[in-house]
Amino acid sequence: MTAQILDGKAAAQALCDQLQTRIAKLKENCRPRLAVVLVGDDEASHIYVRNKQKKAASVGIDCQVIELADGIGENALLSIIDELNRDSHTHGIIVQLPLPRHLDELKIISAISPDKDVDGFTPYNTGLMCCNHPQGFISATPLGVLKLLETTQVDLRGKHAVVIGRSNIVGKPMARLLLNRDCTVTITHSHSVNLPAITRQADILVSACGQPKMITSEWIKEGAIVLDVGITRFEGNICGDVDFDDVKNKASFITPVPGGVGPMTIACLLSNTLEAFLRAPECECSAHHLHHSHHCCRH
Ligand code: NAD
Repeated sequence: MTAQILDGKAAAQALCDQLQTRIAKLKENCRPRLAVVLVGDDEASHIYVRNKQKKAASVGIDCQVIELADGIGENALLSIIDELNRDSHTHGIIVQLPLPRHLDELKIISAISPDKDVDGFTPYNTGLMCCNHPQGFISATPLGVLKLLETTQVDLRGKHAVVIGRSNIVGKPMARLLLNRDCTVTITHSHSVNLPAITRQADILVSACGQPKMITSEWIKEGAIVLDVGITRFEGNICGDVDFDDVKNKASFITPVPGGVGPMTIACLLSNTLEAFLRAPECECSAHHLHHSHHCCRH
């Protein structure tokens, strides 16, 4: 079997085209704004933020990057987030991870107003997602994976989904989303014993562990759907967790790296930002049209 390739670049572009069309219909001077808080000089983080900024601009979302020194104190960072929470012109806020070690990630993330938490990382939005509640924001990476999975049109109910990795930002929310879609879910991690024996049972395998080319065809059930979230950088290239050339001969669908999950992550983040904007109680133009505040720029 040769797998069909799940083209994340094309799917992300289609989603961004839709966002651009919707944003172009908003009133002039009425644009969603995303604030990206970037602490320190982690090279990969700077690349991710630049990509987000470029893509945001291309769909018509203002993206304000707030670059802060590596040594910033917790209180100073919390007060910047507080300011952004109160700023009615800012609709989405993300804090680029990882943060320098002296900062408590969960404490910083938890300070973001849930209404502006377009990464879906706050405990509040995580809780809503766990309850399968439609109101929260779902983390962009697992949401992007799910959207790619849906393009296969395979009925997910009852499928055995195995997730490799249990981080708060990818593995755990991914497992929850698959559970919400009625999959039978197994979560694995670095302490899991005999991982290939577990992954061989997977109808759907999502890998998010950052171990380059760890997953070979031996780890895969014939006809499995394989979604590779992993990104490892070397010599200017990036590599996934899956040995693509080997696994593509056994899987039914597979995501490439690059060009799979990565572009979907950014598109879903921008989609969440537009959603936050549309849900905001007020925006630029509503100030001038109080009576129509819920209609002036919403479609
Ligand atoms: P993380 O380091 O927080 O978590 C990694 C997880 O993988 C841990 O739960 C760990 O237990 C597990 N793990 C590590 N080695 C393992 C092994 N040998 N076998 C089984 N499990 C193992 O990382 P993260 O933030 O969850 O990101 C995971 C990967 O996904 C990274 O490569 C990261 O760069 C990538 N990522 C990609 C996107 C994207 O948009 N494509 C977004 C976020 C993260």
